[in-house]
Amino acid sequence: MSPSCLLCRMPVQYILGEWDFQGLSLKMAPPVFIPRPETEELVEWVLKEVTQSSCPMGAQGGPLILEVGCGSGAISLSLLSQLPQSRVIAVDKGEAAICLTQENAQRLRLLDRIQIVPLDVTLEGSWSHLLPWGPMDLVVSNPPYIFHQDMEQLAPEIRSYEDPVALDGGEEGMDIITHILALAPWLLKDSGSIFLEVDPRHPELVGSWLQSRPDLSLDLVAVRKDFCGRPRFLHIRRSGP
Ligand code: GLN
Repeated sequence: MSPSCLLCRMPVQYILGEWDFQGLSLKMAPPVFIPRPETEELVEWVLKEVTQSSCPMGAQGGPLILEVGCGSGAISLSLLSQLPQSRVIAVDKGEAAICLTQENAQRLRLLDRIQIVPLDVTLEGSWSHLLPWGPMDLVVSNPPYIFHQDMEQLAPEIRSYEDPVALDGGEEGMDIITHILALAPWLLKDSGSIFLEVDPRHPELVGSWLQSRPDLSLDLVAVRKDFCGRPRFLHIRRSGP
C-alpha cells in the first residue's frame, strides 16, 4: 500500500480495492458507497424474517426482492448468496454503482438471479420499468439518509471520495425514504415488507409521515437497534390494498 494513499486520506477499502461483506469479497472502487458494518445487521434481520417466514415467498419458493440504491451490490448479493431460491432486482441511479454491482455479481457467479437496472426512483413514473418483473415480496434499502446539514461533519475520507448522492438524504434525510415508501402500492405485494436502514431520528419521523399517508396502507411494524444501540432499522409492512 502506498503511504501517499493514506496521506491523501483515501478510504482503506478503495486502496485495497476490495472489502468483505457478509463473508463475500466485493470489489470496491471510488466513488461507489462503501458498505458499512451496520448494514450487515440489516441483511441479517432480513434473512431472519424471511427464513422464519414472517415474510411472504414468491412463486418460485423464494422471495422476489427489490433493492433500491444497490451501490457495490453488497445487500443484494449477500441476500442472493444466502437465499438460494431468491431473485433480486437491484436498482441504482449511478452508472458507477450499476457497473460495480454487475462486476461483483459476475465475480460471485450470481448473475443468473439478479437484474441490475439503472433507475432513479425519484423520477416520475420510473417505477413503471420495474412492473414486468411482477410485484415484489420485499423491498430493501440503505438509502441516502444523512440530514443535509450533517454532511459537513463526515470524515474527510468520506467527503472527498464517496459519492455524496449516496449519503445526502436532504433536509431531514427523508428525500429518498419517502420516495421508496410512496412506491410501495405500485411495487409491493399485499402484505409485502420494506426493510430500511435509517438515521436514529427517522423511526419517529417515518412513523408520523406514514400516519399522514394512510392511502399507502403501510405500517411501521418494528424498529431495530444497531450494534451501538441506536435505532437504525425499520420493518414496514403493507396492510392491504
Ligand atoms: N451510515 C452511513 C454513514 O454514516 C450513511 C449511510 C447512508 O446514508 N445510507 O456514513
